[in-house]
Amino acid sequence: MNRMLFWLVMTVGAWAAWRRAFARPYLHLKDKVVLITGASSGIGRAAANAFAAQGAKLVLTARRADLLEAAKAEIAAVYGVEALVIPADVSDEADRARLIQTTLAHFGRVDVLVNNAGIGVSGALADMPEAEVARVLDVNLRAAALLTRAVLPHMLAQQAGHIVNVSSAGALAPMPGQNVYAAAKAGMIGLSDALRRELSGTGVNISTLLPGFTDTPMLGDHASRDETERDLRAAGILLPGIVLDDPAVVGGAIVNAVRYNRREWITGGPGIVLACWLGRWFPGVLDVAMRFITRDDLPHRLAKATQGAKAPGQEGA
Ligand code: NAD
Repeated sequence: MNRMLFWLVMTVGAWAAWRRAFARPYLHLKDKVVLITGASSGIGRAAANAFAAQGAKLVLTARRADLLEAAKAEIAAVYGVEALVIPADVSDEADRARLIQTTLAHFGRVDVLVNNAGIGVSGALADMPEAEVARVLDVNLRAAALLTRAVLPHMLAQQAGHIVNVSSAGALAPMPGQNVYAAAKAGMIGLSDALRRELSGTGVNISTLLPGFTDTPMLGDHASRDETERDLRAAGILLPGIVLDDPAVVGGAIVNAVRYNRREWITGGPGIVLACWLGRWFPGVLDVAMRFITRDDLPHRLAKATQGAKAPGQEGA
């Protein structure tokens, strides 16, 4: 029995190591058309740069045209690839339709859709106005499902395509106060898993990104990365093994999830991977760990560390 277990572990380990070392990209991104929501800031903007570095053509969307134009100018100057800017609110039906129509009219196809636009809201559920609950679910989950629904007929006709849903480590290991945000992000995992099975054999593939703490405006109004890190550390949130990632790390992971057709990708360090694993398989153990970590009001410390993070409807970009 022990011998069997040993060989099983060795075989799985060798297969994983081989895959990591020698796996060849299944998709080359040069000239592929990649539509990224929330491309004006943070992870979306970093992903746009990472796709541009692979030679992809980009459709950049978020609400503010000026920020999108700045992202486009940066991409054109550094990588010289074509980028189309389409300002749109992903929670608006007419905007979503215009986004897809304009993309198809300009490029004639969509090869990759990155559902990245999102808003982060935390606080006691009992204190959250109903409109805020609706908005968090609408922007973070409903918009992703409906945009995916809109691009799918084109990808199915092409018999090729890739959809990336940017969820969150908070979907599997939510902290107190992340209630509705975690529900929306867990919904994205369910959406991805069901779609992958639904679309098996069609040439359309799905990846889910679960970022840990990433240094973007979502974590608050900080002057520098060091300041963000200092505040999170002071709040006792950056525990050993948990790192504050640069958005470029998550942007790179999104690109690699597509290139290597990875089902799921977790960033944020081994502590985040462990928390996700516990949340998925042993939620009771995570309950105990969270009780220990949150012994003196984590939601309050978290709110303080991320002070200045924009409230729903105010985030502007
Ligand atoms: P960010 O605030 O820098 O970027 C969010 C982007 O979404 C912006 O471009 C914003 O304009 C866009 N957006 C928001 N509402 C929109 C709407 N209604 N219509 C169109 N665009 C809209 O934050 P980020 O950290 O880069 O977030 C990107 C994604 O990563 C989000 O889905 C977020 O939930 C997820 N995430 C972030 C972290 C983190 O620590 N920063 C951790 C886990 C997951």
